[in-house]
Amino acid sequence: MFKKILIANRGEIACRVAATARRLGIKTVAVYSEADANARHVAVCDEAVLLGPAAAKESYLRGDKIIAVAKATGAEAIHPGYGFLSENAEFADACHEAGLVFIGPPASAMRAMGSKSAAKSLMEKASVPLVPGYHGDNQDADFLQTQADRIGYPVLLKASAGGGGKGMRVVESSEAFRDALASCKREAISSFGDDKVLAEKYLQRPRHIEIQVFADTHGNCIHLFERDCSVQRRHQKVLEEAPAPGMTAERRAAMGEAAVAAAKAVGYVGAGTVEFIANQDGSFYFMEMNTRLQVEHPVTEMITGADLVEWQLRVAAGEPLPKKQHELAINGHAIEARVYAENPEKGFLPSIGTLRHLGTPDAVNFELGGIPGHPAGVRIDAGVREGDAISPFYDPMIAKLIVWGADRKQALARMAQALSQYQIVGLASNIAFLNRLVQGEAFATADLDTGLIERNHDALFPAAQPAASGALALAAVALIEAEKDRSAAQSGANAADPWGQALGWRMNQPYVRKLSFADDYAAGLPSKAYGVEVTYLNDGWMFNLSGSEASPQLLTLMSQQGADISVKLGDTAVHGSVRRDGELFHVFTNGLHYTLHYNDPMAHAGESEAEGGRLTAPMPGKVVAVLAEKGKEVKKGDALVIMEAMKMEHTIAAPHDGVVDDVLYAVGDQVADGAPLLAFRAA
Ligand code: ADP
Ligand code: ADP
Ligand code: MG
Repeated sequence: MFKKILIANRGEIACRVAATARRLGIKTVAVYSEADANARHVAVCDEAVLLGPAAAKESYLRGDKIIAVAKATGAEAIHPGYGFLSENAEFADACHEAGLVFIGPPASAMRAMGSKSAAKSLMEKASVPLVPGYHGDNQDADFLQTQADRIGYPVLLKASAGGGGKGMRVVESSEAFRDALASCKREAISSFGDDKVLAEKYLQRPRHIEIQVFADTHGNCIHLFERDCSVQRRHQKVLEEAPAPGMTAERRAAMGEAAVAAAKAVGYVGAGTVEFIANQDGSFYFMEMNTRLQVEHPVTEMITGADLVEWQLRVAAGEPLPKKQHELAINGHAIEARVYAENPEKGFLPSIGTLRHLGTPDAVNFELGGIPGHPAGVRIDAGVREGDAISPFYDPMIAKLIVWGADRKQALARMAQALSQYQIVGLASNIAFLNRLVQGEAFATADLDTGLIERNHDALFPAAQPAASGALALAAVALIEAEKDRSAAQSGANAADPWGQALGWRMNQPYVRKLSFADDYAAGLPSKAYGVEVTYLNDGWMFNLSGSEASPQLLTLMSQQGADISVKLGDTAVHGSVRRDGELFHVFTNGLHYTLHYNDPMAHAGESEAEGGRLTAPMPGKVVAVLAEKGKEVKKGDALVIMEAMKMEHTIAAPHDGVVDDVLYAVGDQVADGAPLLAFRAA
């Protein structure tokens, strides 16, 4: 076995590989970019070497530098993780030439599977079932259209060199073919530097089912069952599970055999995934092979008890596979959810920022003995810690949340519970969306297909609900109690002096205070304002929501420990935690996350209001949402236009109450830096 390896990746997968290496007593070398100097993967490895600037092209994709670092630090092998150089055959060759072991398949197998077209030709010869289509060399537009007509619409065009859900176009009719082909080729050349495409029958309501394969250098090639990754957005996976619901032993054996045949056809070694697209009747076709460890490999680990990274290391070191096919069995059910910094309400646009607060569910810490497959309930594979930033340079994944259950029902319940305990403050995340998704009927009943999210759009994107009074009560109590702490600290020796304190205590008459909150308009949803009236009593408050029918209720603080607060509102006990981030109060209660904007009367006292707000584009970019309407009155802070630039969103909000006189751009328009976006008149 190796004594030292270099991990040529970042984020959760670099941490994941390091964890197994540590368990096996193998030293690790991390590499990092300038943006990642304080990243978690740097901290968990034994050594770390800077590669270069943030851009992947100048750091994580610099194969030459990475090899030089491996030589200089005495690493014997390089683990590429996934993404970046993991499927780069030239890099694998270069490692070999430098006398280093590339922990992955032979370069020849990567080349054979690198092109979806060439891979399909190979699979045809190995008698692996294929989706009807054309995957030959003839790229003449007329010819391709004839092929599409023959296949029958809808047809799916794919970039041969594509990946990550990019470079695909669904074509509904012969008339629409030319435009779709042109746009597919444009995206293919710009994303992959190769405009070759293939055409396939576009299946209706298919499922994505993939098989984990493993081969060693001693001629053994086996599979570790399937994963269902049907729940996708933009052809990218969101939820993955193993085993696949509804899978029969016969079908599993048939798919496993087909996958092993595919791997053998290219002389595969190491971990790989053969992806199939399956009809609802169970018939399945080869889609592509990913020649690396997959993002969703943990669900396989949880049901088999195998540490796939350990297997990779053993195979790369020349050892035989730790297990034979007949020694493997499925134990229970596992589900993975990809926790992303993104905004599902805005078309899953990535969001960036600092993780000001990260509260995770009770989980097995993978590094501290959370052996994969151990029926431990909840596992989190993360690449970031509280205080870390999600930058615009890399994938916006925050973590992978993986649960295990004796059956699917238990796994689902654990997933819902874990998601309810997940707290993220500082950037938009898909936590609430994931929770609706796993609790929604379609996923709960395993009514799976790749269109699940679109089909259930209304249930998954419900209209914004007004904040619950319990959430507002928690925010109010957090605010008042924090003031008390501050005033106690300030008054020091005069602590006994009631006049020196901000306890709200007044002589003779009850003190009534009006607090004003609003939904956070940054979410792009219509914002609602809440007037909370609190009347100070000796041992609590009277709580009244202005404009609400409900009569005032007695509010008392039951307990408070840090951010965790329990109150009694009327007859109801409300538990939750409140995190303040400037003017934003993040209230986590009842499995929900409310972001409330506190209109602090003190914060703006004395601030002079600037006359003309900058209703111009803050940088060159694309308009992704127009919330303003011509002629409509808006309130200060209302979101008017949302722009996207550098994978990042910028909200242009109303600087004052006023009227929008004109909207100058539409969704999808490119705008130049400083371009006026709206004509706005202050009230
Ligand atoms: P597929 O959808 O083909 O099965 P996965 O879901 O396994 O692929 O995701 C792998 C993709 O994730 C890579 O192709 C790459 O685009 C992206 N990716 C992988 N590793 C990283 C990383 N460390 N940082 C950012 N992005 C990554
Ligand atoms: P990538 O390399 O981007 O992962 P894939 O070929 O694996 O590309 O396809 C990604 C996704 O696109 C699949 O998981 C599936 O949801 C959808 N897809 C691919 N081929 C078809 C098809 N023939 N019919 C319907 N959906 C498909
Ligand atoms: Mg794929």
